[in-house]
Amino acid sequence: MIHYKSKAEVELMRESALLVSETIAVVASRIKPGVTTMQLDKIAEEFIKDNKATASFKGYHGFPYACCISVNDAVVHGFPTNDELVPGDIISVDVGVFKNGFHGDSAYTFAVGEISDEVKKLLRVTKESLYLGIEKAIAGNRVGDIAFAIQDYTEKKHGYGVVRDLVGHGLGRSLHEEPQVPNFGKRGTGAKLKEGLVIAIEPMINMGTKDVVHDKDGWTIRTADGKPAAHYEHDICIQKGKADILSSFTPIEAAEKANTELCSDY
Ligand code: MG
Ligand code: MG
Repeated sequence: MIHYKSKAEVELMRESALLVSETIAVVASRIKPGVTTMQLDKIAEEFIKDNKATASFKGYHGFPYACCISVNDAVVHGFPTNDELVPGDIISVDVGVFKNGFHGDSAYTFAVGEISDEVKKLLRVTKESLYLGIEKAIAGNRVGDIAFAIQDYTEKKHGYGVVRDLVGHGLGRSLHEEPQVPNFGKRGTGAKLKEGLVIAIEPMINMGTKDVVHDKDGWTIRTADGKPAAHYEHDICIQKGKADILSSFTPIEAAEKANTELCSDY
């Protein structure tokens, strides 16, 4: 069953989504070589608590941390660890918060220090594919229109692998609602998009094969060939003509830029 949100509910969801964005921005400002992803997780969890919200992922089906932090070949659902980040790593930070009865859920992938040009391109293309998907997320279109836009750009145009095992989703009072929003598919297929539907669109794009493997920890999803993967996620509300993006990369990109300038002083 699909839950359509009222205008008042969408505003509450915007608040949750923007708190996620602010949380990821705080994490972004602390990313540098030598920091552990466990430290980043604690920073995020405290920030969420300070803002009178709870971390959606903590305890979700037993997930033990506030954030999913996935390094290099980890695609999503990575556990924070006590390993120090090193220059050349990329890390995806996926955060969910629950506030005023609604979840926000967003993700962003960061470079640690200097990364290779080919990995930079993977990050850029994955983020661009998210916005191409969002362009199709309008009333009257179907889920398959979003899926096709992302797959066509990342897989067909750039030769990357689109993960098949994991998909975007509806969002609201539950972290995962209907419909599923895959990053692969055919135009004109799937659920019809109607005003008031809030979905999380989240391309998970591998530099090499689309195939993934499950780690022994029971959560972390890795690329089967060990090549890096990128992940970006926005929460959007379907409207006529243009989607309303509830989360925001603006604070995250500002923190990322400031941090990059700081790190280049090393
Ligand atoms: Mg997420
Ligand atoms: Mg999600």
